[in-house]
Amino acid sequence: MVPSVTHLDSASPCTTTDRVTVGNGAGLPIEHIGHAHVSSASSTLQLPNVFHVPQLTFKLLSVHQLCHDNNCSILFDQYGFCIQDQFSKRVLFKGRSSNGLYPIPSASQLSSPSPTVAYLGQQIKSSIWHSRLGHPTNDIVHTMLKSANLPILVDSPMHVCPHCLSGKMHQLPFSSTHVKASFPFQRVHSDVWGPSPCKSTDGYQYVVIFIDEYTGFTWLYPLFAKSEVFTKFTHLYAYVENQFSTSIKCLQSDGGEEYMVLVSCNCT
Ligand SMILES: [Zn+2]
Repeated sequence: MVPSVTHLDSASPCTTTDRVTVGNGAGLPIEHIGHAHVSSASSTLQLPNVFHVPQLTFKLLSVHQLCHDNNCSILFDQYGFCIQDQFSKRVLFKGRSSNGLYPIPSASQLSSPSPTVAYLGQQIKSSIWHSRLGHPTNDIVHTMLKSANLPILVDSPMHVCPHCLSGKMHQLPFSSTHVKASFPFQRVHSDVWGPSPCKSTDGYQYVVIFIDEYTGFTWLYPLFAKSEVFTKFTHLYAYVENQFSTSIKCLQSDGGEEYMVLVSCNCT
């Protein structure tokens, strides 16, 4: 139903005395019956039985009549509506709700649809986008979402993806042990750190650390190169023998290359 005959493509005077009954029970006269249409870029809906009712203020569309005349179905939810072809399920029209109503978008609105409409209802965590996009880095995820103008719910700044970590691991995790050292120097742990992004004032680039498991005492030696690990270990070994009248019974490391020379010398 339309309030002006100019909204109709073609019209002929109404020959009956039928009236349109509105909410307060009043009957509004019908002056013309005609044909109209609603077009989008890809489809046109035909409205073959449109009443011209001058006392109306707004144009009204019967959902039942629209579905009947165009073999379509309409889905409604709180965000908007979607008109689909009944058989192919192709989307013919879609629009957003406004103030409790579902206005049909004009042709100009349809020609420039907003690509973000479907995403306005919810914000998705960046960790979910990380998974959906094939596990790229956080910087790439944020750049892609920003360029697509998609809303994003940022996780904690230190979000770590366990699957990415597992995929980048070179070794299986070490099995845990419940055996604890029961006297000093029964087991000494060691690791090497480096290369440092910048050299020290003396030119050192690496650090080797030795930690006695029982006492927690720690020795730290700066290194020019990883190859010096063996020399530093023999230094510590002699130091322990001279100062404490005992010896290091066991050295535990991560099995890095710098410790292979110790293994080949049977130092452990
Ligand atoms: Zn990941």
